[in-house]
Amino acid sequence: MTQNTNVDPAEIAKFNDIAARWWDVDGEFKPLHLLNPTRLGYISDMAGGVFGKNIVDVGCGGGILAESLARSGAVVTGIDMAEDALQVGRLHAMESAVAVTYVQSTAESFAASQPAQFDIVTCMEMLEHVPKPSSVIQACAELAKPGGLLFFSTINKSVKAYVMAIVGAEYILRLVPKGTHQFSKFIRPSQLMHDIEQAGLELVDATGLHFNPFNNTFKTGPGLDVNYFVVARKPVNN
Ligand code: SAH
Repeated sequence: MTQNTNVDPAEIAKFNDIAARWWDVDGEFKPLHLLNPTRLGYISDMAGGVFGKNIVDVGCGGGILAESLARSGAVVTGIDMAEDALQVGRLHAMESAVAVTYVQSTAESFAASQPAQFDIVTCMEMLEHVPKPSSVIQACAELAKPGGLLFFSTINKSVKAYVMAIVGAEYILRLVPKGTHQFSKFIRPSQLMHDIEQAGLELVDATGLHFNPFNNTFKTGPGLDVNYFVVARKPVNN
């Protein structure tokens, strides 16, 4: 696949359309705001802290994770194809006096210009919006320094994920707009782990991310049946 074809323009338009509400904690991105402290803690624990680390956040959107990593002392670059989301990210970082560099790019073309530059690569809730996730995973592998850590999160292709992430979140709780997710683009952990291995990465950890609608919080734990993280490492001798 060539470098710029792994983008679904309808997905990018969808995120651009609602970009202005990226930082509204009660808006369309509420789930990302709710889960951010949990994923920030998980990334930081797995990486032995993020202070001073060079991090690229692939599919960063308006920067919910990118900004929190920067606030924890990391040197953060966020890349995304939705220019309006990046613009919101730039303004929010300025208002918050946090330094984040935002670049409009695909993972694939950024990897071509910045190979092996990053201690940590994060790619959260993005793979289920691209035509070919394996190509993004390969690009993430290229972005990482040897020995670098990679964090992926997505949604499993399970009946429970359909019920929770589409019926529950889009139709019952109305946490996110209808049409946010397509079941066919959800990714089984076995598939993600296969793609990770194909990209020459080593598997480090996999954990579930569980939403409790009664107290509106997420926590990590066993069970990859709905939302989950997979952590990988780029071998040193690669
Ligand atoms: N990672 C962020 C945002 C997730 S929303 C977070 O978890 O907080 C998914 C993001 O992926 C959107 O901002 C969308 O514009 C971006 N995206 C989708 N396809 C993309 C592609 N091919 N290249 C880069 N970004 C993409």
